[in-house]
Amino acid sequence: MATWTEDRVETLSKLWADGLSASQIAKILGEVTRNAVIGKVHRLGLSGRVKKSKQAKRMPRTTTAKARTTSPSAPRMPRRMAATPAPVPLEAKKLPNGEFANIMTITDHMCKWPLGDPSSSDFRFCGRGADKGDPYCKAHSQVAYQPARRRGVPSPALLAQNKRRALR
Ligand SMILES: [Zn+2]
Repeated sequence: MATWTEDRVETLSKLWADGLSASQIAKILGEVTRNAVIGKVHRLGLSGRVKKSKQAKRMPRTTTAKARTTSPSAPRMPRRMAATPAPVPLEAKKLPNGEFANIMTITDHMCKWPLGDPSSSDFRFCGRGADKGDPYCKAHSQVAYQPARRRGVPSPALLAQNKRRALR
């Protein structure tokens, strides 16, 4: 059996890369069979012969893939802007008795959007009219159920707190 010296392996790799067949390489190297060449090629991990023409063909494919990934994101921008919720009432609506809706006075038909710090006495609910089965008024349900939720927007309570901070 012929031994695979470094030189012979190098020649084999070169010839294989050049696109010669296993039998052609076997003839050039001598002392080896076509099968031995194929076996060595596999062991060397050379089996995946890459021709220059194939590489050239791959180029436009990658550019198309890139174009495909970038193009859908482009129209996303205006869509996101359109989804921006309408200005949300920052202040609660007073009840007929002149007080804000709190945990005691809130009813099913009132917006339960929390305003203020829940641990403080001035905590109140929005109190605006809410549609049946909807916990919030139109403006607040817009905030609550907008795609904003998917973007990981903080809880309504946290939002209200942040707004209060911004107003100070
Ligand atoms: Zn509300």
